[in-house]
Amino acid sequence: MILPTDRLIDKFGRVHNNLRISVTDRCNIRCVYCMPEVVDFLPRHDLLTFEEIERFVRVATTLGIDKIRLTGGEPLVRRGVPTLVEKIAAVPGIVDVGLTTNGILLAPMAKALWDAGLRRINVSLDTMDPAKFLELTRRTGFEQVIEGILAAKAAGFDPVKVNAVAIKGTTEADVVPLGRFAREHGLELRFIEYMPLDAGDLWERGKVLFAADILDLLAEGIGPLSPAPDQDPRAPAVDYDYDDGGGRVGLIASVSRPFCMSCNRVRLTADGKLRNCLFAHDETDIRALMRGGRPDSELAQALRESVAEKWEGHQINTARFIKPERLMHSIGG
Ligand code: SAM
Repeated sequence: MILPTDRLIDKFGRVHNNLRISVTDRCNIRCVYCMPEVVDFLPRHDLLTFEEIERFVRVATTLGIDKIRLTGGEPLVRRGVPTLVEKIAAVPGIVDVGLTTNGILLAPMAKALWDAGLRRINVSLDTMDPAKFLELTRRTGFEQVIEGILAAKAAGFDPVKVNAVAIKGTTEADVVPLGRFAREHGLELRFIEYMPLDAGDLWERGKVLFAADILDLLAEGIGPLSPAPDQDPRAPAVDYDYDDGGGRVGLIASVSRPFCMSCNRVRLTADGKLRNCLFAHDETDIRALMRGGRPDSELAQALRESVAEKWEGHQINTARFIKPERLMHSIGG
């Protein structure tokens, strides 16, 4: 049992139970809004081993972390991810293990991931047009992503969530085709407002396709939607159900309606740096503590302090906003 005093509570009263772990900074595609074409990836010995990740998860559960999501880079490019899922799912106190993937390597692995104890899967897909997929990701692989989504469904994942980044001037034409695909296959489609985490200075506020506009496009092209009755107020997505019962769409309005005040997340990068916000500038070096032979109590203290120092929010909508040095692929989205 976790005492209330052991919980990860920051100075704004936010209780943290959600840890996102990046297992690699490598990726097999190059989404234009996420990473540059040429990247210096971390050398292998800089990555946390599965044993180090498992150790940190064990420590984190003593402070109330019970939800884990594996991400990257592309998590499935790291060998043995089902083994890691199995190790994490077996840690006492963990109730939920999820994974976010671009889906390219998913089809042959979906069943192994399910069998290992993974129960939540999000697949990123921005378009139903293979030519546009190539343009956005700078790689081929559209068909493999579709196969991956369908394989995840067949393996038992329900719902399979499909995430699309919402970029003004780009995504409008994809909203309805993605909506139709999701309805046809019983998938939960979610749009994430484009955030300033890309390589270079591509992002600007005017390039964010807002959640409200997406809702209008779906209502016009497919049918009316209404707010879902069973909203979790702490979840980043605001859910809408089609009035005809044809499924659910989530809108993650990180820019137009920031949800920082209900944030319950911390992040561990592939090289073992703890970040208390996607947009944080400071990191805590967990890997150095572990490889320096420090005891679990010091890891726990480092996690406690990192959460305690968490700021109010990302400030994207203010003149004070400063883009973090790390790009999305090396933080872990
Ligand atoms: N490779 C995996 C994937 O594609 O899902 C996991 C990592 S990826 C960084 C996680 C999510 O972040 C993806 O859904 C991706 O589209 C999203 N993402 C990346 N850059 C983004 C940005 N600048 N704004 C909003 N979402 C972004």
